[in-house]
Amino acid sequence: METHEINKRFLDHFTERGHTQVPSASLIFDDPNLLFVNAGMVQFKPYFLGDVPPPYPRATSIQKCVRTGDIDEVGKTTRHNTFFQMAGNFSFGDYFKEGAIEHAWELITAPVSGGGFGLDPARLWATVYEHDAESAALWHKITGIPAERVQYRGADDNYWDMGVPGPGGPCSEIYYDRGPEYGREGGPVVDEDRYLEIWNLVFMQEIRGEVSPKKGGPVLGELPTKNIDTGMGIERVAYLLQGVENVYETDLVRPVIGRAEEFSGHRYGADHTDDVRFRVIADHARSGVMLIGDGVTPGNDGRGYVLRRLLRRIVRSMRLLGVHEPVLPEFAAVVRDAMGPSYPELVTGFDRIADIMRAEEEAFLTTLTSGSRIFDLAAEQTKAGGGAILAGDKAFQLHDTYGFPIDLTLEMASEQGLRVDEDGFRTLMQEQRDRAKADAASRKSGHGDLSVYRQVLERHGETRFLGYTDLQATAR
Ligand code: ATP
Ligand code: MG
Ligand code: MG
Ligand code: MG
Repeated sequence: METHEINKRFLDHFTERGHTQVPSASLIFDDPNLLFVNAGMVQFKPYFLGDVPPPYPRATSIQKCVRTGDIDEVGKTTRHNTFFQMAGNFSFGDYFKEGAIEHAWELITAPVSGGGFGLDPARLWATVYEHDAESAALWHKITGIPAERVQYRGADDNYWDMGVPGPGGPCSEIYYDRGPEYGREGGPVVDEDRYLEIWNLVFMQEIRGEVSPKKGGPVLGELPTKNIDTGMGIERVAYLLQGVENVYETDLVRPVIGRAEEFSGHRYGADHTDDVRFRVIADHARSGVMLIGDGVTPGNDGRGYVLRRLLRRIVRSMRLLGVHEPVLPEFAAVVRDAMGPSYPELVTGFDRIADIMRAEEEAFLTTLTSGSRIFDLAAEQTKAGGGAILAGDKAFQLHDTYGFPIDLTLEMASEQGLRVDEDGFRTLMQEQRDRAKADAASRKSGHGDLSVYRQVLERHGETRFLGYTDLQATAR
């Protein structure tokens, strides 16, 4: 089943059940706690908080999401994208646990010929919050799922709140057993690779205080009206229904892998290390296009830095596959063709998207060529000397003279089995800042042009991996 069809079935299922269909919000939503929208509920927050009366009792949407916090998982697990689509249904003081479980179960188990996803009920598992026996009983009652396939989990996994005092509640997740060839017996608490999480149902029922129940804080009372917030991963369902091995091989992501194969002459599926690169490339290309489509441009901090980081990671991965010529505008076209039917702004805004990608790629290729030579030499010398740690002054030189962000150096080092003396690097950075402060003139004579990332570190001091730090306050 194609992704477009999965989206359609989801929305149909919930509109038939009285939900108002609401379009996706932009990835850049006006929310001070979030770099990017990372869940379907973000645009509905004011209704959940009671700040604004909800215009409808029930809603459904397919929300564009970016989770930069998952970037290190991309290509390595079977299920993490940086950009993905979260399908959701929401109840504002209307139906609660029972309705949420029923609606979800019906959709995923109804036969394909009957408008559902046709998942085998015998392969489905659920988790509930450790103090939520009510939901465990409901799962059994509504779906007939045996007690041993409903597992209890602690607050880290199965308690949700917005990261601030206010609404909170237990959640309950649905998992699909991919089978013994994918890992160990025993349900999602044992193995989250074999048991794939597809859907999270949040039961907003209570009010938390200053300290979250996640950290042992108390529940202050019941919410006057109880709400439902759910999120189903479209790519994950696609990966199950398309009979492929992971989210990167689904119909809207896989085409970029195909293009990267053509460019590189390497074949996907032939070598594990290459495969991870192919998957990173396909994932990041899509995220890059979606972000630029929503108005982000590459830059030195915040959202722009995340975008820059994603795009540069594609270029570097292509290098590692032996490709030195520009690729980003080509990939952008492939993403446009896949995602355009759902997101027409990618088609109308394509020239701008491709131009931004082209410019970023050109700038980075220049940096990369000179910096990589220095890096390789330093790595070789470190290893030849029997060391496992790249010296801090090398990382500093790469940063200062060649504009290598420290995270790039860390990543390249780790590929070589090396670590980096980060403390040493930071000390040198600090010394440089101090010198610059002491003599403002010396700053002007530095290598300012080459070191675009210096500003990031100056502005943000010790914040590491700034670009990845998604404030996932609302992540479940
Ligand atoms: P996981 O434990 O697999 O990282 P999660 O518990 O962090 O997932 P939720 O916050 O519960 O995910 O999000 C709701 C749903 O969105 C998940 O059940 C999953 O189907 C989907 N989802 C979450 N993160 C991603 C991602 N990085 N890529 C693709 N789909 C995702
Ligand atoms: Mg997660
Ligand atoms: Mg999870
Ligand atoms: Mg979850």
